[in-house]
Amino acid sequence: MRTNRPTVAVIGSGFSGLSAAAILASNGFDVHVLEKNSQLGGRARALSEHGFTFDMGPSWYWMPDVFEKYFNRFGYTASDFYELKKLDPGFAVIFGKDDVMDVPADFDSLCALFEQTEAGSAEKLRKFMDEAEYKYNAGMNDLVYKPGLSITEFMRYDLAKDVFRLQIFSSFSKHVRSRFKNPKLISLLEFPVLFLGAAPKDTPALYSLMNYSGLKIGTFYPMGGFAKVADAFRRIAEEQGAKIHTNATVESFGWNGNSISGVNAGGSTLPVNAVIGSADYHHIEQELLPESFRTYSKKYWDSRVFAPSCLIFYLGINKRIAKLRHHNLFFDEDIEQHTQDIYTDKQWPGKPLFYVCVPSKTDSSVAPEGCENIFILMPIAVGLTDAPEIRDHYYSLIMKRIEAFAGEKISENAIFKKSYSVSNFVHDYNAYKGNAYGLANTLRQTAILKPKIRSRKVSNLFYAGQLTVPGPGVPPAIISGQVAAAEVLKSM
Ligand SMILES: Cc1cc2nc3c(=O)[nH]c(=O)nc-3n(C[C@H](O)[C@H](O)[C@H](O)COP(=O)(O)OP(=O)(O)OC[C@H]3O[C@@H](n4cnc5c(N)ncnc54)[C@H](O)[C@@H]3O)c2cc1C
Repeated sequence: MRTNRPTVAVIGSGFSGLSAAAILASNGFDVHVLEKNSQLGGRARALSEHGFTFDMGPSWYWMPDVFEKYFNRFGYTASDFYELKKLDPGFAVIFGKDDVMDVPADFDSLCALFEQTEAGSAEKLRKFMDEAEYKYNAGMNDLVYKPGLSITEFMRYDLAKDVFRLQIFSSFSKHVRSRFKNPKLISLLEFPVLFLGAAPKDTPALYSLMNYSGLKIGTFYPMGGFAKVADAFRRIAEEQGAKIHTNATVESFGWNGNSISGVNAGGSTLPVNAVIGSADYHHIEQELLPESFRTYSKKYWDSRVFAPSCLIFYLGINKRIAKLRHHNLFFDEDIEQHTQDIYTDKQWPGKPLFYVCVPSKTDSSVAPEGCENIFILMPIAVGLTDAPEIRDHYYSLIMKRIEAFAGEKISENAIFKKSYSVSNFVHDYNAYKGNAYGLANTLRQTAILKPKIRSRKVSNLFYAGQLTVPGPGVPPAIISGQVAAAEVLKSM
């Protein structure tokens, strides 16, 4: 234990902030997490209304080993906090009213499904997954824990050799399409990068590691929802001694030369030795730092490719819907067109794809008896104007498609309905252009090409979260917090 306990302020209580706080507190630092909202968990907050508990953000629990590794650092395992269920089917892809692909949890059954859809594809899938497994093991055990500050981190012989095998600089779309021709199989393999990152053609083939995670390791659900997971992170941080302050919006900093000497939040000042900014990087850089201390310009941020924003509906339905599964991907429209609407034309989509999550299929605690908890997410370009009439238009359009598929009325059974989109992300999280998942993992925005985890101009400012390394998603956010904390430890 340290005797002179340095004080660190962590801005934001998302997964990256809570994990950074726990690590630093366990190393004897006096840690204060400052969160602007009244709830913890950042984008993984819960919304409780009319007996329903909605996960406001994440719903796909992939890469369970990342969570487990984190819990193990503190002598815990995930089951000390929540029950993890493997979903089977992992998810369903809906290509038309009577055209549904249930993606089985068992890999041999998945290979059989591929073979049925495209002759010869089972063998190709096995090979694709072997490569993806290699990337997953090398990537998730080693590469993602690098701070991405310098190319020399990747110059170890085995890693340099791996750059080719890991396909960091070649396109995911080409990787998939050179092996599979059936559009359904292509959609199935490309959807994770589209929903969580960028256009498949601009995403490194490295990210087939996500296919390995989702299709081979499996899709899981934490009973009680993601808020339970965030609460486990809170508990660990507090057990290690971190103090968490809600309704504490950080507004500015006090300075001693080029170091931050104090953090101003909620009318008081916390004297600090270091700061981890785990709120959106752009907000901290461009809105909290004086111009002379910013590493990146407004032009730089404008030119970044952001992962999508989204239009979300949280619905409490007073009956059960037989045809819906836990995870339902409505891919009954052209995936290319929607991708173009998001990334190229940056406009509201004409014929959108969307995702429907019904956690009450697995977890009776998230809805009153006999009811269904429904979360609908439609990915959209960042920065769009989301007036109420636009939200209403998409609500009708989406509900018509869900009802046609389900073969029953749903909308008239809604006893609770709330929408959430671009302007809410800006208001609630200070999200640049209302992004939902941070900076996209494109070919030009991976590893050392991301905004740096350590400020170049402020000596004691570090960043964590989905706009820096390793990228968007809960597992990367957990890793990011640990990497940022390690950088603080190195610096003191
Ligand atoms: C709708 C949606 C669906 C998603 N689905 C999935 C999924 O299925 N699986 C998955 O793995 N990931 C998913 N993600 C992504 C994942 O949720 C995020 O990548 C991750 O939670 C981000 O964590 P973070 O710590 O980087 O940031 P955040 O969770 O955004 O935390 C940052 C915190 O900083 C706070 N803050 C901002 N400004 C200030 C300030 N000035 N002072 C104090 N506090 C401030 C914010 O209020 C926020 O609480 C989804 C995200 C969204 C939005």
